[in-house]
Amino acid sequence: MDPKTDEINVPDILKGAGLRVTPQRDAILRHILTNRGHMSADEIYRAMQHILPNLSVSTVYNTLKCLSDVGLIREIKFGDAASLFDANTSPHHHMVCNKCGKLIDFYLPSTPNVTHIAEQEKFHIEEMHIAVRGICNDCAKSREPD
Ligand code: ZN
Ligand code: MN
Repeated sequence: MDPKTDEINVPDILKGAGLRVTPQRDAILRHILTNRGHMSADEIYRAMQHILPNLSVSTVYNTLKCLSDVGLIREIKFGDAASLFDANTSPHHHMVCNKCGKLIDFYLPSTPNVTHIAEQEKFHIEEMHIAVRGICNDCAKSREPD
């Protein structure tokens, strides 16, 4: 059920989220929604060079922040590593390949409740995301001797 570029009304989605439609927002959101997956700001910037040659890296960052703030995309942070941006905004977690960096979505029937533990530490939870690290099937296969 992957949406095709021409089936997505990006301007309507932007307006629905209360954002003004700009060529930058339109192109970046269209790219993310069409390609799905998880991409870094740098990958998005490179993909935009054919579409918006004058776009600056900082505009890409600002646009991604703006789209994340209104919940149209989700920013996934892993410590100091570059954030990845996810078209899938429903609550889910990720399996992360230690070799190629690929993220695979997974869902849990319910999110583990850590409220009590957080309270003990006086820790204020902003989001809960589980990252399961390992080796993806493609990388495991390429490791096998033939
Ligand atoms: Zn991998
Ligand atoms: Mn995801």
